[in-house]
Amino acid sequence: MQSLTRIKELLEMAGHGPKKALGQNFLIDQNLINKLIDASGVGAGDLVLEIGPGTGALTVGLLERGCRVIACELDTDLARVLRETLGAEYPDLLTIIEGDCLAGKKALNSEVASAIGDEGFCMVANLPYHAATPVMMTLMTRHGNCRGMYVTIQREVVDRFAAGSGSKTYGMISVVAQCLGEVRMIAKLKPGCFWPAPGVESAMMGWTRDVGLVGGADPGWWVQMSELAQSLFQSRRKKLGGVVKKMVDGGEVAWPDGVSGDDRVDSLDPERVHALCRSIAGVIDTER
Ligand code: SAM
Repeated sequence: MQSLTRIKELLEMAGHGPKKALGQNFLIDQNLINKLIDASGVGAGDLVLEIGPGTGALTVGLLERGCRVIACELDTDLARVLRETLGAEYPDLLTIIEGDCLAGKKALNSEVASAIGDEGFCMVANLPYHAATPVMMTLMTRHGNCRGMYVTIQREVVDRFAAGSGSKTYGMISVVAQCLGEVRMIAKLKPGCFWPAPGVESAMMGWTRDVGLVGGADPGWWVQMSELAQSLFQSRRKKLGGVVKKMVDGGEVAWPDGVSGDDRVDSLDPERVHALCRSIAGVIDTER
């Protein structure tokens, strides 16, 4: 467990205060940290990816439960402090990777990807908010061995993952997340749960992959599917007839059950958006 005093001490060892540009808002409520780990269900021997370990407040909780943790930290000074403290205490369980968790917008840091390999893992993290959506979408669509994500992110982003058809926040992210798994709210967090307090509301969200849902586990398809869904939602208030016609260059798309050219994409549930993307992909792939 890390108290606020300990977090400040560790930052002093790092030689700087919290860096706003790196989203350094440290979770100081131990009950919430435990709640996130409990919700993830991870335990001894499980492989866990933590992005943005910071001073290690969440990392230590994972290590105490016997998880094998791959922790990726962009801040060089904090990565050093982590190596000198938790790295020395748990040499067999903790792998620290220094660098950006993402290589571009749609790929995981290659060192992180090769440390994970093909093994099943969960992400448990208090994410840097600027990287939250790209990292979560990348893990959902490109890393089928990511079994779940249990994260602290901006409340507004949780709303987007969880949104249902017809809502203003419903979009590509909601469709992909809900086709591939189950989204749930673990806890709503006030800014005062962090030090320093961020300017936005936060929440803990859980996402558990369910390969039994639509579409199967082929990661190639989910990358294409998310691009097609993104194009559909770019014209969310237009009738699908015209939108789809443009996407397939005038080709003939077979409308799936329950979908017609008079619908708008934001009125379709995730399964229907998925079925429509399959039909569109069928036409595009034969045109190539
Ligand atoms: N895990 C700590 C906690 O729970 O208190 C710190 C979380 S803080 C919200 C986000 C952490 O992510 C910071 O330590 C920051 O340096 C790190 N970070 C920011 N951008 C990053 C990136 N692109 N890749 C990896 N780590 C990043």
